[in-house]
Amino acid sequence: MTIAPNSIEARDIAYQMHPNVNLRTYEKSGGLVIESGEGIYVTDNSGKRYIEGLAGLWSVAVGFGEKRLSEVAKAQMDKLPYYHTFAYKTHGPSIELSEMLISIAPVPMSKVHFTSSGSEANDLAAKMVWYRSNALGKPDKKKIIGRIYGYHGVTIAAGSITGLPRNHQSFDLPLDRMVHTSCPSYVHFGKDGESEADFTKRMLGDLEDLIQREGPDTIAAFWGEPVMGAGGVLVPPVGYWEGVQEILRKHDILLVVDEVICGFGRTGKMFACQTYDIKPDVLVLSKQISSSYLPLSAILMNDAFYQPIADESERIGVFGHGFTASGHPVATAVGLENLKIIQERDLVGNAAALEEKFLGRLNELAQHPVAHSSRGVGLLGALEIKPFADGKPGDAAAAVAAALQEEGVICRAVMEAVCFCPPLIITAEQIDEMFDALGHALDTVAASRA
Ligand code: PMP
Repeated sequence: MTIAPNSIEARDIAYQMHPNVNLRTYEKSGGLVIESGEGIYVTDNSGKRYIEGLAGLWSVAVGFGEKRLSEVAKAQMDKLPYYHTFAYKTHGPSIELSEMLISIAPVPMSKVHFTSSGSEANDLAAKMVWYRSNALGKPDKKKIIGRIYGYHGVTIAAGSITGLPRNHQSFDLPLDRMVHTSCPSYVHFGKDGESEADFTKRMLGDLEDLIQREGPDTIAAFWGEPVMGAGGVLVPPVGYWEGVQEILRKHDILLVVDEVICGFGRTGKMFACQTYDIKPDVLVLSKQISSSYLPLSAILMNDAFYQPIADESERIGVFGHGFTASGHPVATAVGLENLKIIQERDLVGNAAALEEKFLGRLNELAQHPVAHSSRGVGLLGALEIKPFADGKPGDAAAAVAAALQEEGVICRAVMEAVCFCPPLIITAEQIDEMFDALGHALDTVAASRA
């Protein structure tokens, strides 16, 4: 792309430092300027329209341009644009959303605490785990087990639980309280001739070994996404979550489930905890909680988790944590309306009904000569691309994503896969439109390598 002087792209390069890019590449290439969105589509500043095949960052459940959300935001802005939840103050939107979240939670939960991003929520949940261990008189029970390729955000504690090298390198992470167990992706780490059930046994064995090496009494919590999202849509192998929960119960280790991507219908149930029969002590939610129209995240905790923390705050005199924006009234009002839309339009049912079509089309495309395999659940899926024999890791998937963008579909390349997570409002016809374009993109990449 040639960048004209003083164009919006040139001004972007001149003044803005972007997240999650190679900054030197960005200085030369600039970024795609998105100007508007409607339904599952976004439009760039040249007027070209794209299907947002990743719902933004796995998040815009109700689609773009949903007027009910902008109207609720305006009404709340006019009535009470800001108030906090510190110092014995509260407000209606945060109360109503808390009540709604407790009523739909996949297991009995006691309290909701609001933050503004997935990273903040995981970071605070880690701090709460430590606070609680101190409250229980177990100051040595502080370690947290994350997983290789798990993603929980980028702040210091959350980034340490994340198991992706790029989020650690040169940031002096992870903290030494965070340890990582094996990544349970059978397609990537299953050995030749190893059945899926044997792979699961090996993963559970690795977890048990790690706990024994570190000392069960030093480990406070295990953190996991039901399906690992940013690591590349890594679906758990059969029996994995059942086995993990058994091990955690045996060693009195808390289970913190991060449904920042999976929550609110993505897997075809309201929560992936229901899809995989997971019973968390703490549940971390964000993204589809507000369709990311405004920054919002929530930590749901059960009573056994909450009570010692409340006792400790009484002993110290205060729960010494909070953000200016905790429970922000406009964000929580939008979150509540967004969840009402998800319920009224049965978007969870839509994800469940379209799963077969969505995964079926991906599976057909997996037969293409440049593709390797497909995987997914609900409306969350990935197509693994065969690496180029003469390329760097990830080159092939990046080439497919670039060709697909030319075709008018935005997806996300992660390692050797292209990932899809469209808005939950997508229709069967639009799934065809998206994956027909993917077929053309695969042909383009195949032709360019011939
Ligand atoms: N947890 C998971 C599972 C995520 O996918 C993400 C974001 N992709 C986060 C946490 C971090 O959320 P945020 O970017 O809002 O900090």
